[in-house]
Amino acid sequence: MKTDKSKGFAWIVLITVMINLIGCGPKRESYSVESQGNIQSWQDIQAHANKASLTTFMTGVLTVPTSGMLNRSDPKTDIFTEDSIDVEVYAHWIRHSEKGDFLIDTGLDHRFGESARGSQKGFVAPFIIEGGMQEIGQDILSQLEENQVNVKGVFLTHVHSDHSAGIPALPEGTPIMLGKGASLHQYPFALYNDHFDNVETLYELDFSQAVDIQPLGKMLDLFGDGSVWAISTPGHTEGHVSYLVNSFEGWVLLTGDASHTRWGFENGVIPGWSEDDSEAEKSLRGLIQFSQQNPDIRVVFGHER
Ligand SMILES: [Zn+2]
Repeated sequence: MKTDKSKGFAWIVLITVMINLIGCGPKRESYSVESQGNIQSWQDIQAHANKASLTTFMTGVLTVPTSGMLNRSDPKTDIFTEDSIDVEVYAHWIRHSEKGDFLIDTGLDHRFGESARGSQKGFVAPFIIEGGMQEIGQDILSQLEENQVNVKGVFLTHVHSDHSAGIPALPEGTPIMLGKGASLHQYPFALYNDHFDNVETLYELDFSQAVDIQPLGKMLDLFGDGSVWAISTPGHTEGHVSYLVNSFEGWVLLTGDASHTRWGFENGVIPGWSEDDSEAEKSLRGLIQFSQQNPDIRVVFGHER
């Protein structure tokens, strides 16, 4: 006959196994960067950089808490009277003449056209995504097919579901790159999704080999020809990455969620959802300073352009 004690033990084992099944995730390897060359300044980068084409796909609109986008303890945010805000969700397509097609973030798949929260599950999800809208043809796969994009790999800014939700629409085995130490933010029952269910390996961007270019800080030349740079911008999440692309229309800074909104960027207000406020301040300050020193560079925010 089983005792209460052994029943309790069985429950613990079962729950541990379930958490591991949902939470263990893909294995991690280092993304191997090409030789970083002798780059010491932003002037060096500009002098040697190749170009790549850059196109932004808008994959839907989500209604989210204003307090997530902007740190409401900053009194400047008092001008926002609504508790919710509608934000656009992007995937950025890079076409490189030799390396092929890559995405920076993946936007939303077609499931967000069927219900507001799409593939995002869990009892916390309604507090994070309050509503959503996706028109026919806006889902990531439709836009990739329409533009005949053959995705060779994905560089994520970070793993919040609105940035990873397009992964299941990509061919299985598509390499996924992300900042070293970035969490997949899978919390059984509370907040989880299937975005990484078919991903075997994640390739981490390791900024310990990066060049240090002030005021941006640690930067990696992703293709070795200066066309696409990853910038370490932690704070919103651990391992958050922004990107700088030398497009045919000029340089474009993709902040990711280091700043969700233009207003946050122009007013120096960090996201409300920040894992580390002081890191988020530091990252945002670097991006703002760079933008002020280079006013011709177009800045695209995590959820506004
Ligand atoms: Zn985010």
